[in-house]
Amino acid sequence: MSEPANAPVNVLVCSDLDRTLIYSVNSMALTGPDEDMPRLVCVEFYQGAPLSYLTETAARGLEALAAVTTFVPTTTRTPEQYRRVHLLDKPPAYAICANGGHLLVDGVDDADWAAAVRARNAEAGAPLAEIGEYLTRIGGDFVLKRRTASDLFAYTVVDRAALPPSWVEDLTGWCAERGWRTSLQGRKVYCLPAALTKAAAATEVARRSGADLMLAAGDSLLDTELLEAADAAVRPAHGELHDTGWTAPHTAVTTASGIAAGQEIVGWLLERSAQSPPGDGGRS
Ligand SMILES: [Mg+2]
Repeated sequence: MSEPANAPVNVLVCSDLDRTLIYSVNSMALTGPDEDMPRLVCVEFYQGAPLSYLTETAARGLEALAAVTTFVPTTTRTPEQYRRVHLLDKPPAYAICANGGHLLVDGVDDADWAAAVRARNAEAGAPLAEIGEYLTRIGGDFVLKRRTASDLFAYTVVDRAALPPSWVEDLTGWCAERGWRTSLQGRKVYCLPAALTKAAAATEVARRSGADLMLAAGDSLLDTELLEAADAAVRPAHGELHDTGWTAPHTAVTTASGIAAGQEIVGWLLERSAQSPPGDGGRS
């Protein structure tokens, strides 16, 4: 479909949150003299204490981005965990939670979407209970907590220093035989149905919002399909994808790492959403 060179483009921006846009004190990796540190905005409290931050520049950039695009927080967090995060003055119209297992529309869970995802998972792989039992069976002293999320997937909190390198590898192999996959992020080892992707939910939001162009950002293995589904994407120079050397032709990598990468990602998304796609742009 040909469009005039400067036709307005309906841009969808789907971005992961943790370690892509928002950072805990442990993940922000700020180095340098104290007097050079950027001003930070706290966007999440947990049990009464501040937990997640972005730079003030990134916060301003996100407001600008949300004003000109359909900006969709796209996270593995459960809806409950997501609701603690106050990224914008006005909450976004859409949010993707539980790695695509929940789609919030104006803050309300879309029950039909959640049911459809669960039906698809049930067909595609082993039940969550089987994964949970196995995790209990193989656990060692390094497993600090075991949790399930949204009745969809499981994760364990581990002591990274004591975690045997082969443990995640063996778990990954076991999961793969059952239509599941793993992701190691900080102190958490996730086990998710392979069919549960952020990309599927992002494609649904693209359809509903009539997007011409999709931009994406993410840092972990759970973001790969999302980055691949987008017309253009960006990832930080840290995290699981960076550690595994993951690249894709249309995915940019930040220069900075830590919370500074978050600011760079917002800048990149703003710049890309302002560009009218030259010739090849558009999803139609
Ligand atoms: Mg992340």
